[in-house]
Amino acid sequence: MKTYAYGFPRLGKNREFKRLIESFWAGKLSEGELREGIRKLNQKREETYSKFVEDFPRGEMTLYDPMLDTALTFGVYKAETLNDYFNLCRGKNALEMTKWFNTNYHYLVPDFKGERPSFKVSQSPWDRHEGVKERAHLIAPFTFLKLSKNLPESSFKEALVELTEKLIEYASLKGFSSIHLEDPALVMELPLKEWKAVEEAYSKLEEFKGEIFLITYYDSVENLELLFNLPVSGVGVDLVHDRGENLKQLEKIKSDKLLIAGVVDGRNVWRNDLFKTSQLLKELSQNFKVAVSNASPLFHLPVSLAGSSLEKELLEKVAFAEEKLYEISLLGELVEGRKEEEAREWTCKIGSSFGEDLTVREKVAKLKEEDFTRKPDYKERLEKQKAVLNLPLFPTTTIGSFPQTEEVRRVRLLYKRGKLSEEDYKTFIRGEITKAIEIQEELNLDVFVHGEFERSDMVEFFAEKLEGIATTGNGWVISYGTRCYRPPIIYGDVKRNSPMTVEEIAFAQSKTDKPVKGMLTGPTTIIAWSYTREDIPTSEVAYQIALALKEEIRDYEEAGIKIVQIDEPAIREKAPIKKRNWKEYFDWAIKAFRLCHSSVKPETQIHTHMCYSEFGEIIEYIKEMDFDVISIEASRSKGDILEVFEKVNFDRQIGLGVWDIHSPYVPTKEEMKEIVERALRVIPKENFWINPDCGLKTRRWEEVIPALRNMTELAKELRKEN
Ligand code: GLN
Ligand code: ZN
Repeated sequence: MKTYAYGFPRLGKNREFKRLIESFWAGKLSEGELREGIRKLNQKREETYSKFVEDFPRGEMTLYDPMLDTALTFGVYKAETLNDYFNLCRGKNALEMTKWFNTNYHYLVPDFKGERPSFKVSQSPWDRHEGVKERAHLIAPFTFLKLSKNLPESSFKEALVELTEKLIEYASLKGFSSIHLEDPALVMELPLKEWKAVEEAYSKLEEFKGEIFLITYYDSVENLELLFNLPVSGVGVDLVHDRGENLKQLEKIKSDKLLIAGVVDGRNVWRNDLFKTSQLLKELSQNFKVAVSNASPLFHLPVSLAGSSLEKELLEKVAFAEEKLYEISLLGELVEGRKEEEAREWTCKIGSSFGEDLTVREKVAKLKEEDFTRKPDYKERLEKQKAVLNLPLFPTTTIGSFPQTEEVRRVRLLYKRGKLSEEDYKTFIRGEITKAIEIQEELNLDVFVHGEFERSDMVEFFAEKLEGIATTGNGWVISYGTRCYRPPIIYGDVKRNSPMTVEEIAFAQSKTDKPVKGMLTGPTTIIAWSYTREDIPTSEVAYQIALALKEEIRDYEEAGIKIVQIDEPAIREKAPIKKRNWKEYFDWAIKAFRLCHSSVKPETQIHTHMCYSEFGEIIEYIKEMDFDVISIEASRSKGDILEVFEKVNFDRQIGLGVWDIHSPYVPTKEEMKEIVERALRVIPKENFWINPDCGLKTRRWEEVIPALRNMTELAKELRKEN
């Protein structure tokens, strides 16, 4: 059977991509050296593909993000030099960034600024397709437009038609003989008129004489038959994360086109159940010409298991990107009756008892409705919290982290590598906390944080402390540009053996009379930024994590901590692509959050934080989380948020970010005041907190201190005026 793969990570086994690009930014690498380095890296990638599969797309390599490349190729933005190119990625004139579907990858969002676009095949300083003839990788017009912003709805169809024509023009200019066209937006819930637009626009693909593979992923396509009727040679579908819906439709479709069957999971690390999959492939090949493939791009996985520090028991159950290619190659043979032994050796061996902890399972099984409900209700506990906390009007606070300086990162690494004793490390962290408390004292903030100096990453930190979650050591994945993170693997039942954060928080509290927030990462965010079991319901995993956090909060209370913040920045992103699946998701996500705090004392104030501002769609769910205070991002989103709060009846306290911490710019008191004044038109002043958009770990103290000073000055002024 034909084997096909796509989306292999561009990062490189040793994060060569990151090193190359960042060295260029730092002026340590010439443009020629950068181009040569990237060329070599891509060559290695393609050699890896060739080792395992017959066919794969060419020209996947970007210097930052393929959406940007597409925008440049079709003249939506202009860039003459590589510096222009990178200016669109970062810095003052950068495009906005947002999450790519329901993943933790961020793409650059093309902005049409409300104007009807006109496209023009253009030269980009980064030509992904240099020398490419076969299987040229392109983002499809529909996905490109669907994920861009401020495209007037009335010109959507026209734009789609025009962009499709330009794509063909580009293909013939380049002399492509075949095309790999990625169109994941086709898995969204689409109105009929968009399906019609797709049908009309893509009928133009007819003019391209070579093969076109149209690839979808991340979920099912609601109108799969339509895709098979387009003038393309092959259709790629996700048969892993489609809830069985693609398969159901395939049973009814008759087509002589190639079915690119995505049966190897591109988003999770568990090994494939090869014999079961090969059976499925056999059945599919009765009605289709089939190519075995991955179900979504492989860049959501670390490059390779080679050199992994995972324990053997886990190591033999997982596959990273390179091993997924191996699975595809094995499946191609297995359907034809070869490589049975290798397949038996490799195949998924995870059993329900792996990582099992019956005490945790039992605790979850015993949960009752009241375990998810905090008592008394908000009004009643508000009075008690007021009495204990005694906060002024417009309380000021920050989101949790303070600058992770070169020194902080260096010392943490030394400790991790065993080159610094635990005692010396703790002394250092205490020193940093003490400094942070002194600074907050001096700035006169109202609610303090300890600064999170001991945390490299808000998920990995907890993964290291919790049972049932493994960290990967070198399992890096790009989250945007050159920014990487290491998703942990939730492999078994999760439990807390001992307090995870209490020591640092209690230490911070001992240094001040102001309340210090206990700082936790919420269950849904831990799950969203990790790999999790597919054979255990995610709700079960979420409740297990929640129970661990619940114990942590109880220890906070015992240590005299009065405010706890449970961060859930990933709650929106983790929501399924199709809204009809939202209820089921939010049901467990919210219950998990509520389980964390349902048994706290009425006096204990529960905060949450989410760093985005598109709340309209989810506000009704968010309300159900039953926190006392929420902090959200607001400084960049002008009026949008306010519109939301104008419409809903929201009785909780809210901190709208008054400082965009993504930029080094220090906002003035007046600029912050403008945001507050606008907000006060819809949010009662008694409910209003003043804080930055997000944590300050990427900022420098030189920016943090003046910005926070402006913020506290503003609060003083507002109190006087009100
Ligand atoms: N408490 C975290 C911090 O301040 C929150 C980070 C986030 O929202 N992503 O860094
Ligand atoms: Zn945030």
